Amino acid sequence: MPNINVLDEETINKIAAGEVVERPVSVVKELVENAIDAGSRNISIEIKGGGIDYIRVSDNGSGILKNNIPLAFYRHATSKIKSIEDLACATSLGFRGEALSSIAAVAQVELLTKTSEEVLGYRYVINGGKEMSFDEAGVPDGTTMIVRNLFYNTPARKKFLKSAVTEANNITELIERLVLSHPDISFKYVNNGTLKISSLGTSDVKSDIYTVFGKDIVNALVDVGYEDENMRISGFVCKSEIARGNRNYELFFVNNRLVRSKVLSSAVEEAYKPYLMLHKFPFVILYIDIDPTLLDVNVHPAKTEIRFLNERDIYDAVFSAATDAVTRKELIPEVNIVNEQAKNPEEIIKPSFIPEPFMAKTMRNPKEEIIVKNEPEKIEPKSLEPVQETLFKEGFLGEANRAKHRIIGQVFDTYWIIEYDGKMYIVDQHAAHEKVLYERFRKRILESLVTSQLISPPYIVSLSASQEETLKSNLSDFTDIGFEIEHFGGREYAISAVPTELFGMNEKEYFTSVLDEIDKEGLSSEPYAVKLRIATMACKAAVKGNMRMSTAEADALIDELLRLENPYNCPHGRPTVVSFSKTELEKMFKRIV
Ligand code: ADP
Ligand code: MG
Repeated sequence: MPNINVLDEETINKIAAGEVVERPVSVVKELVENAIDAGSRNISIEIKGGGIDYIRVSDNGSGILKNNIPLAFYRHATSKIKSIEDLACATSLGFRGEALSSIAAVAQVELLTKTSEEVLGYRYVINGGKEMSFDEAGVPDGTTMIVRNLFYNTPARKKFLKSAVTEANNITELIERLVLSHPDISFKYVNNGTLKISSLGTSDVKSDIYTVFGKDIVNALVDVGYEDENMRISGFVCKSEIARGNRNYELFFVNNRLVRSKVLSSAVEEAYKPYLMLHKFPFVILYIDIDPTLLDVNVHPAKTEIRFLNERDIYDAVFSAATDAVTRKELIPEVNIVNEQAKNPEEIIKPSFIPEPFMAKTMRNPKEEIIVKNEPEKIEPKSLEPVQETLFKEGFLGEANRAKHRIIGQVFDTYWIIEYDGKMYIVDQHAAHEKVLYERFRKRILESLVTSQLISPPYIVSLSASQEETLKSNLSDFTDIGFEIEHFGGREYAISAVPTELFGMNEKEYFTSVLDEIDKEGLSSEPYAVKLRIATMACKAAVKGNMRMSTAEADALIDELLRLENPYNCPHGRPTVVSFSKTELEKMFKRIV
């Protein structure tokens, strides 16, 4: 029979570390939350090598008293709760007292700290849970934690880390959200020696949103305001044209903590329902201040999930606040040039604040679901039974039958109605166009025959830190297929040429979303995968940019469509053509039964 061993403190800490410290971003999160809890107004974060090699978090908070320094690294040592009763109304961010012990167990940690009460500060070094030194040091008020060589003594754990770039991206995303959750704190974030984010800490939420998401989002914001005896809701919703493909931009800060909540999500989604397409999600940033006794924040160990004691009240309040904002007149998109100028972000944000180029950015990479992918749309309603044309049915798109097509016209700027051989065909112009463009473009990519079209003046896109990394690591895929992209300063890039096929596409929106997409998918293993993904999305953007089409152009489009190997589905898997037989129409009109 094996012996039962009592684990020593060091081993227990290593095991606990597994829960608290999964990757560099968890270390940053714990350290920054401690800094926030310590009442800091300025927090600066620096990482190197994705945070695996080096993390430094400096704050100007309370500091730690000499006697408490070694104690802070004990398991379940916390100054934030004394007993189980306190747990119920804990408002501070961390309160389990195991972060520092866990971090110190799996890294080399250096602490510099000074309180304002004490004359001297201290330097404390603890490696793999073992105290190395504890000395007096001349340091400013506040605390600096430096964490080096994460998981140096747990190689199995280290193996599970992603590339430094991916780990750094996760940290960047965390910092962006911390900036938004604490507009009253000034954050500075440096990655591998480059300043990536700096926020003012002047409680001006709009300028923080500008810092994190850039100008386009700031221009689309609509204020939200709500108050009752239990809670206050403030923040912004975005006009529906800013809709996203997943829930990553439904940002809810409950008592300054970013949380996920089904109740909150469904309340805003319901408010947006009349204005958003299926599978689209709103972009909202809501701050909900609520009496902490109405919350159960301790549901999830990482505390990102939240439970409300009275879900119905919360739902109603958020729904009503969002509905009020969504239905306001400003939500209707304006394309008036005078208006656009008036909404210039420099005028919204205090005049003294002149944003640096690095402060402008657009979207973070959504790491979650892609909603519709290669999944043919269901055709409703059933009773009409239109038939999606398939490869196996020669006929409509057969070369020889082209001459017999009669193009009747277009409806809803989208669908072409064509009569042929006792059937009515409906061609989705966008799907067809996308398909034709994609096949043309794909052929050129595979044969390395791409050509470029210069755009003047170039489009300037501002990227998020992680989008920039993605662009850098995939730049040759873009240039190989005809894009010309140059660094323009800060995180802005100039696109001075696009593939010829795609001239007229909506470059700006396309660019940021394609970077998010290829980052998310981890496509790099197949030789042409990234290029073709870039191409598929580009074709979609190109089609959006060219809506109108004459009958002659539609005719030419259908002509080209029918020459393709598989003309019946667009690159995203949607059908390009459906048909109704004459009999079906007659049944609908009860001419026959
Ligand atoms: P917890 O945050 O759950 O209390 P931690 O292990 O994260 O546990 O921290 C232990 C203690 O160390 C905290 O309760 C706090 O007293 C102290 N501490 C940690 N970081 C800081 C900081 N940046 N400034 C002041 N005190 C700190
Ligand atoms: Mg903590």
